[in-house]
Amino acid sequence: MSRDLSTELIHHPYRPPAGFEAPQLAIHKASTVIFADVASMRARDWRNKLGYTYGLHGTPTTFALEERVAALEGGRQCVLVPSGLAAIALVDQALLAQGGEVLLPDNVYGPSRELARSELTRWGITHRLYDPLDATALAAMIGPRTRLVWLEAAGSVTMEFPDLPGLVEAARSRGVTTALDNTWGAGIAFRGFDLGIDIVMQALTKYPSGGGDVLMGSVTTRDAALHERIKLTHMHLGLGVAGNDAELVLRSLATLPLRYHAQDAAGRALAAWLAARPEVRQVLHPALEGSPGHAHWRATCSAAAGLFSVLLDERYTAAQVDAFVDALQLFRIGYSWAGPVSLVVPYDVAAMRAGSVRGGAHLRGHLVRFSLGLEAVADLQADIEQALVAAFGAAV
Ligand SMILES: *Cc1c(COP(=O)(O)O)cnc(C)c1O
Repeated sequence: MSRDLSTELIHHPYRPPAGFEAPQLAIHKASTVIFADVASMRARDWRNKLGYTYGLHGTPTTFALEERVAALEGGRQCVLVPSGLAAIALVDQALLAQGGEVLLPDNVYGPSRELARSELTRWGITHRLYDPLDATALAAMIGPRTRLVWLEAAGSVTMEFPDLPGLVEAARSRGVTTALDNTWGAGIAFRGFDLGIDIVMQALTKYPSGGGDVLMGSVTTRDAALHERIKLTHMHLGLGVAGNDAELVLRSLATLPLRYHAQDAAGRALAAWLAARPEVRQVLHPALEGSPGHAHWRATCSAAAGLFSVLLDERYTAAQVDAFVDALQLFRIGYSWAGPVSLVVPYDVAAMRAGSVRGGAHLRGHLVRFSLGLEAVADLQADIEQALVAAFGAAV
């Protein structure tokens, strides 16, 4: 039967030979998955990974990335979502219901707190903030309606490293599920599951991508029933990731440990140098002696992210601090982190003090957060030095 060209271009008989092997996995992209016959269509179950049902429920590319992220986190099952924030929202929606309560550390990633304040409140789910350095206080806060305790190590901007074993024990002993935002640790600094944490999410946007060019999140578990609960919500909400994006992260994962340790070394070198500068009141870096939660970091971690904040002296004006940030050349002004380009963001300390459970007396001065890219440390240090002098005058 001869067919029209328009049909032939779609239903062409050529099939490339099977058995192609290359170091990098193929990229599979599909909305529709084709079944050999009706019986095999009916036999497929999206809940297992033995076959494929629909693009949203997985392709060889997304399955491969899920397995590697599960290995990275030391977990067993993983689901991928379009951003780190979507991973946080997925955990909240899978575990919480009207009348329930979630507890968040007071230094939690800002949008997670905003989600609790807005949507969760609207859905009849309450939230309270706890001090991540005080496990006894968390234990006392847990009540009959508490369903979920979020953990974050280190805290997003103020960088306190929490007493993770203490916080996990407080929740576990009361039968409350724990979820860790592991974006900072990236699966390299410590293993959340080894501490007894139930759910580990990560913004793959940061270290696993490493390129500053893809947004993605993951939710990893070790318990099959917990995974199924999350996977069901994932399906009901219609979440999925694109094959091209998954491939970008797969490609970058191989260099994750190298990049993490390089950015860690650069971060510690600059943090130590800044701690001795007269303009700096305090450096907030969990691996630095005297930083809040340093003893917890030392007990838990073998590495640190290339991320830290400084509190610049109170004698400067806000305009001077803005001028310092504007004077930086290599550090570009931008959120996110863990890409090749070093980034800087000034934060509003007054707002952070107001949101702190401890009253925020520990946060004095002007807070500026640095995220290390992959540039040479000497060049980054010279950049900070020239900006300090430009904004605050020659060092005394
Ligand atoms: C960036 C980030 C997120 C959110 O990731 P997106 O992919 O940008 O939505 C969540 N938690 C932490 C700690 C982050 O740094």
